[in-house]
Amino acid sequence: MKTKIGNANGVIFVYTKDYIIKTHGENTWLDLLNNLSAEDKLHLSKNLIKTAWYSAPLLNRLINTYDAIHGNGDFAKIIPIVEHIAKNDLNPVFQVFLDLKNPAFVLNNAPTLWKRYFDSGEMIIDIADEENKRYILHLEEIADENLASGMAICTLGISTWIKTGLEMTEANNIRVVHTDCRYKNDKSCTIELTWD
Ligand SMILES: [Zn+2]
Repeated sequence: MKTKIGNANGVIFVYTKDYIIKTHGENTWLDLLNNLSAEDKLHLSKNLIKTAWYSAPLLNRLINTYDAIHGNGDFAKIIPIVEHIAKNDLNPVFQVFLDLKNPAFVLNNAPTLWKRYFDSGEMIIDIADEENKRYILHLEEIADENLASGMAICTLGISTWIKTGLEMTEANNIRVVHTDCRYKNDKSCTIELTWD
């Protein structure tokens, strides 16, 4: 049986490239591509399209290489990239609901939003306690950089994305804790969050 390789949405690629070029300049992007394989470079040199899907392992290699060159291996450098993606992508999609300042709306859409970004894995809402402003989500997905969203997505991608989304609804004191993680030998990922 052939194992299916997961895909990541073009939105992530387009805004990652956009962030890198706006922040560091075109040469940094080209330099990054030169540090990838010839095949990866070819894919990423094409005109990236928001509505297209690209290989998730390709995204992992792009992010990991960026972090290796510009960061120190803890993925902290991807935080502003994820913020850039969330801000640019959520605004047109959820403008009305962001205006209503409704954090629960964004969180209730976490399963749909995961599907918007990745075509493998499933985000599930375990607890949706709007009254106490507490949610628990979990992600069912394999831990394999060569098949699905990678460690960077777990380490700071998901939590930064959720935090940025909630900040856009003007929620305060947002705390996002990624407790169990598939990349720490847990069966799946658990994300606990609260806000005021
Ligand atoms: Zn995880």
